[in-house]
Amino acid sequence: MNTRTEPQRPASFDLSAYGIEGPIVERNLSPAALYERALIHGDGARIADSGALIAYSGDKTGRSPKDKRVVRGESAQEGGEPGIWWGPVNIPISQRTFDINRSRAVDYLNTRARLYVVDAFAGWDPNHRLKVRVICERPYHALFMWTMLIRPTVEEVRGFGEPDWVIMNAGRFPANPLTAGMTSTTSVDLDFHGGDGTGEVVILGTEYAGEMKKGIFTVMNKLMPERGHLSMHCSATADPRTGASSLLFGLSGTGKTTLSADPERRLVGDDEHVWTGEGIFNIEGGCYAKAIHLSKENEPQIFEALKFGAVLENVRLDEADHHVDFDDTSITQNTRGAYPLEHVPNAELPAVAGHPTDVIFLTADAFGVLPPVSRLTPEQAMVHFISGYTAKVAGTEQGVDKPEATFSPCFGGPFLVWHPARYAELLAEKIREHDAKVWLVNTGWTGGACGEGERIALKHTRGIIDAIHRGLLGEAATEEDPVFGLHVVTEIPGVPSEVLSPRGTWKDPSAYDAAASELAGRFRENFKKYEDGVDDAVKAAVPGG
Ligand code: ATP
Ligand code: MN
Repeated sequence: MNTRTEPQRPASFDLSAYGIEGPIVERNLSPAALYERALIHGDGARIADSGALIAYSGDKTGRSPKDKRVVRGESAQEGGEPGIWWGPVNIPISQRTFDINRSRAVDYLNTRARLYVVDAFAGWDPNHRLKVRVICERPYHALFMWTMLIRPTVEEVRGFGEPDWVIMNAGRFPANPLTAGMTSTTSVDLDFHGGDGTGEVVILGTEYAGEMKKGIFTVMNKLMPERGHLSMHCSATADPRTGASSLLFGLSGTGKTTLSADPERRLVGDDEHVWTGEGIFNIEGGCYAKAIHLSKENEPQIFEALKFGAVLENVRLDEADHHVDFDDTSITQNTRGAYPLEHVPNAELPAVAGHPTDVIFLTADAFGVLPPVSRLTPEQAMVHFISGYTAKVAGTEQGVDKPEATFSPCFGGPFLVWHPARYAELLAEKIREHDAKVWLVNTGWTGGACGEGERIALKHTRGIIDAIHRGLLGEAATEEDPVFGLHVVTEIPGVPSEVLSPRGTWKDPSAYDAAASELAGRFRENFKKYEDGVDDAVKAAVPGG
């Protein structure tokens, strides 16, 4: 009798439906198990003295917004699904190009010894959540998505069934730029499967983990408006007494994550939310904070959350004590930390909250002319939402090294699927229905343009946000700005008044006037492409219009 026991092959999760049959597949491993895999199987990972897993994303250390491609559906000949915002944000590709990229990803994944599957949810509202499956090679990517998606209970895993959306991450392997319809070796491809609510994301040529979370956000930006709900690139907090929420919209680097880490409020989420008829819900199960110059003193909540179970991306550590140097930008300005909401003591779990009382647009004005805070009329709210003015701050996108002024509709242009007007209409409706106040907050430069002036002090911005949340600005003194027509708040307890009126912070007021009218001109120029879709009252609210 042969008593020799065969070495036990670890139970492998079945991915044959995707044409993946070679690798050992492990599903929903715990953070501890993923740490082990990351260290043992050559993921290049390290462990920080705080307990966080440090991982490196390779060449790409930011998103690749020029490489997001979307399958143009059946009606391609007629121009694709009506209403989709085709163009540089949603580059159309044929089903065949998608299939070639997908099979390239599958072939590559099949060559790997081991793969990881994460089955989890996007969306805290059970009525709207998506079942998401991530298939990836790197343990760090699995841990990242385990952190950023909503972790299922044991019961939920058992009853998971087939996912609604699948992300195939073959980011270590390039796309073939010779493929028809392809221009680059990097591609984040979405296939909406003809619009039945399910689909696939295929990633080639980038290992930046943020592509996966923003891929799912893009999916929600398609599905939610179809159901009459507004998906939003914003952070959200809730009033601990009333449960009402407040939203902070803004492009990368404007302060969504930083300002939502607020000890006076409950944290709902730092980046992606949906506003439904019931209130708001967070799409994600974690936060993804910039880690550059992170300090315990300035951002204690984020600092403390980067412990065991968190992922620190592209940071360097001291070889002796494994202490992370958050000031080291030798790999990238866009160092990041991902941590589950449970790491934040004041997180609101489940991450849902009531309708917003305040909607705050954050802009990091690189010209240094917009006031730190102003109250917007409903028409101005539309203008600023559709314009989405800000500075692109160094880091999050590949190739942006110094702040540059830009416009990105809905404060999230790269993630939109429909024409911006569709989101703007939903926002206008919801603001009206729930009587939310709208504010424009400049977290950017003061005393001069970027390079000359300086970034507005975080403590002043925090003072402004506090005052809004306490309802102190409803009756506060305002002054009308002659160039932008903004109702500038000029007095806030705890914030020096000289800070609140930008003209006075410039050495040369006439230089301020010139910069202000130049920026107003840029607003006017940029808004031209949206003019046809808005009514006259909104057109009249365009700066310099
Ligand atoms: P992303 O969409 O890429 O996640 P974000 O909107 O969440 O971007 P944050 O991660 O909050 O942006 O980044 C804001 C950065 O700017 C932080 O590093 C923060 O410390 C810094 N900062 C400096 N001054 C201010 C200010 N006055 N208000 C907000 N943030 C500031
Ligand atoms: Mn953020």
